[in-house]
Amino acid sequence: MAKGYVKKHSTTPPKIPVIACEGSCLRGEIARQAVNIATYKLSPRKTVRICFQGIVGGGCEEAVLIERAEKVLFVEGCALKCGSRLVRGAMEINAKIDVVVADQLYDFNRNLFGIDEMPEEEIKAHADKVANKLAEDL
Ligand code: SF4
Repeated sequence: MAKGYVKKHSTTPPKIPVIACEGSCLRGEIARQAVNIATYKLSPRKTVRICFQGIVGGGCEEAVLIERAEKVLFVEGCALKCGSRLVRGAMEINAKIDVVVADQLYDFNRNLFGIDEMPEEEIKAHADKVANKLAEDL
């Protein structure tokens, strides 16, 4: 199935692979939703959603899409940037990665941490805002 996904998205010019940190906290959840909206809804012709764990774990078919891309967009939930640091450790693609820190793109109570500390509608609204910004900057 992944081979089919890679084939479908192996366009010329190459699409921009977009990865989220997939963090389990509020910030990671907003980054995850934002990346899904940006890739699947706002810019499906320019971007392709990539599985972060598959890339870090190795053996993932989607690595081909990263290798053939001119740049990779990595959307981090917060300034710790742990996702892109792990990807840099797993693949030699330093020069290609543009890192965006999602929680710098929306206003919220920065004392909140868990996904259960913010209503779903508000999470979605922040994700929409981040996604629109990502799509604008592609
Ligand atoms: S970058 Fe921040 S939000 Fe994402 S996984 Fe790391 S600590 Fe969590």
